[in-house]
Amino acid sequence: MDRQKLDQQLRCILDQVRERIVEGAGPSLQSMYDMEELVYGELNRSKAQVLQAWCREAGDDSGRPACPHCGGAMRHKGYRKRTVVCQGGQVELDRARWWCDACKASFSPSGQRGDGGGLSGDSEGGGDGPGGGGPAAL
Ligand SMILES: [Zn+2]
Repeated sequence: MDRQKLDQQLRCILDQVRERIVEGAGPSLQSMYDMEELVYGELNRSKAQVLQAWCREAGDDSGRPACPHCGGAMRHKGYRKRTVVCQGGQVELDRARWWCDACKASFSPSGQRGDGGGLSGDSEGGGDGPGGGGPAAL
């Protein structure tokens, strides 16, 4: 992961937050309520942007996982965009997707909360086509 690039992106996001707060700030303490809305709104919105920036920089280093159901070898099925709903909004991830021929199920280890991801029993095609040109015989 390139921390300098992440630093640059976060600086940009947070600079915009700072600018919008400074721009929208009222001159009087009587605008306390509006100011509260502005500050919390801007900072809350930046949370998902920060997470999104990190998602772009962080690598998917999930390696080749064993099938969480049968323990068998899995095939790499390419990457799939996934929208994750986070506390501050939605974030898009490119997650590595793995396929178990025995269980006819796919698995994406990264970008999951807690349990490290589960099998999803969708069809192999799943909209993005069989990864790398047709079902490979293991
Ligand atoms: Zn399996």
